[in-house]
Amino acid sequence: MKILTRIGALALVVLTLASAGSSRQKPRNLILFIGDGMGVSHVYAAITASGNTMTFPSFPVTGFSRTHSANNYSTDSAAGGTALATGEKTNNLMVAMRPDSTILVTLLEHAKAAGMATGIVCTSSLTDATPADFATHAPLRYEYRSIAKQYINGAADIFIGGGRRYFVPTPDSTGKINHEEDVVSGLSRAGYDVTYDLESFIASKSDRIAGLMADGDIPMISDGRDTQFLARATAKAIEVLSRNRAGFILMVEGSRIDDAGHGNNTSMVIDEVIDMDRAVAVAYDFAKRDGKTLIVVTADHETGGMSITGGNLAKREVKAEFSFTGHSGVMVPVFAFGPGAVEFTGIQENTDLFHDFFRLLSLDRKRR
Ligand SMILES: [Zn+2]
Repeated sequence: MKILTRIGALALVVLTLASAGSSRQKPRNLILFIGDGMGVSHVYAAITASGNTMTFPSFPVTGFSRTHSANNYSTDSAAGGTALATGEKTNNLMVAMRPDSTILVTLLEHAKAAGMATGIVCTSSLTDATPADFATHAPLRYEYRSIAKQYINGAADIFIGGGRRYFVPTPDSTGKINHEEDVVSGLSRAGYDVTYDLESFIASKSDRIAGLMADGDIPMISDGRDTQFLARATAKAIEVLSRNRAGFILMVEGSRIDDAGHGNNTSMVIDEVIDMDRAVAVAYDFAKRDGKTLIVVTADHETGGMSITGGNLAKREVKAEFSFTGHSGVMVPVFAFGPGAVEFTGIQENTDLFHDFFRLLSLDRKRR
């Protein structure tokens, strides 16, 4: 009897370990969402305005990320994105480079070396700091032409955002064209299907697609951006990247949350956070079916020192105030779903997120 009880207890332990194991499994794919400038108040304003119907706030694992850069308590997007993309803190304004300007290998570059597929989807210019941090390197984030040119190297198989003006040559005052600036021809030679509108991007049959959707940033929701743009671009990227049996990494940025924060505009903050959540919902549907995809939603920093001073849940109203128009030093939230999600609980350095991704995707062992 005693022995039987012991066997029963042992079976229970084995079963418990097996079920705990499922949340500790390793993912094959990673979809990382970065809400640029998205702090806890930005998320809660959107939760309230949506009537608590958002996807990522319902993820089972939540945590916080400490965002300070190597030289500043308050990071900018360049150093904040570099921390997430490379696992090292650098100085503000630097793109995937150490403070001494040596190059830091990015998550997407590690993934390419491991035979994985890679992608970037954003609503800013592709040359903006956050997307640039994952695919390019620059000592100064404003080196837009150099950043655009580095997309030819192919760290991202598929990328879509704005910033077309840095990919096409501009004629000088005499009308002469500087072909050095012609990044589009370089992309075509490198095998990219270069597209200029969402329908062509979605219709492309290629597995290497460039989407140059606007001259500069893609408009904010309040300026008429299609509320399906980010979700549809994300769906297409997942469709293409998931063909790769070795797995994929996709970074999706809700870029314009930051602009709404800088502008201290509550309704614009809400629109942009809810817009990113529509793209998260697409990824979540895929991840639930796939079972091998980790989704992490976080931010590079908080913008505006936003605080919620009142509201009404039934009326879905939020009253918010902002402390200033810059980036604050406060921790930002982390939400995770899928195999390995449990690693993202508690308070971590932003650089730790990279090291978790690296280990969970076995990028050290996959390199060839
Ligand atoms: Zn900003």
